[in-house]
Amino acid sequence: MQKLIVANWKMYGSKTMAEAFLKTFLYSKTDTYNYIFCPPFTLLASFEKFLNSQKYILGAQNCSSFENGAFTGDISAEMLKEFNCSYCLIGHSERRQIYHEDDEKILTTKIQQLLKHQITPIFCVGESLEDKKQGTAFQKIKHQLNVLKEINNEIIIAYEPIWAIGTNKVPNIQEINEMHQFIKNLYLKPLKVLYGGSVNPQNAADILTSDQVDGILVGRASLEVASLLALKER
Ligand code: PEP
Repeated sequence: MQKLIVANWKMYGSKTMAEAFLKTFLYSKTDTYNYIFCPPFTLLASFEKFLNSQKYILGAQNCSSFENGAFTGDISAEMLKEFNCSYCLIGHSERRQIYHEDDEKILTTKIQQLLKHQITPIFCVGESLEDKKQGTAFQKIKHQLNVLKEINNEIIIAYEPIWAIGTNKVPNIQEINEMHQFIKNLYLKPLKVLYGGSVNPQNAADILTSDQVDGILVGRASLEVASLLALKER
């Protein structure tokens, strides 16, 4: 099974940068991985223009829990579908922490909206440093995964320890494997679990080579073609 590399561009990039990036990327890419790009909403059109191959799939970073209506600033799942988004991040820790988007009901309706429009949610979970220190990381992840209890469709989970995002601190491979195994054991059906948090060209080989890891979710290292393409197995 081909592993996924999900590029989360967060609030970075411009039309000029995206076009230059994609030209180089499409010229230099290999077919080893399935890449999913999650650019800011304003760059979806630029990406859509270039990503006409199945291998390089488009995603978004968030979506509204509503179908449509007077919700200033929101983007609906239906709107994302119009740009051919096949994936969407939900529950990223930056949304949970900075914008307090942590409500189980809202996260559930966002997922339902995406599934209604044939978009696969990439549901992000992760423990804080406090949870880790207190030994409650597994409990925390199990609690966050409650959102998925009524959902039977295909979903991808991204395990992203909050203390690892943008910090250059990464759990060791045993810790990653243990958490991925724990998450997979909570479900009857096989499901993909990605690791995210400070993945870079130096540590990617160890992480991607693990059988427990179905792919990676990458922020900073996905903004340059050379570092994105340097993320690979041994
Ligand atoms: C992320 O944004 O999901 C992420 C993992 O960021 P970074 O790779 O920069 O830690």
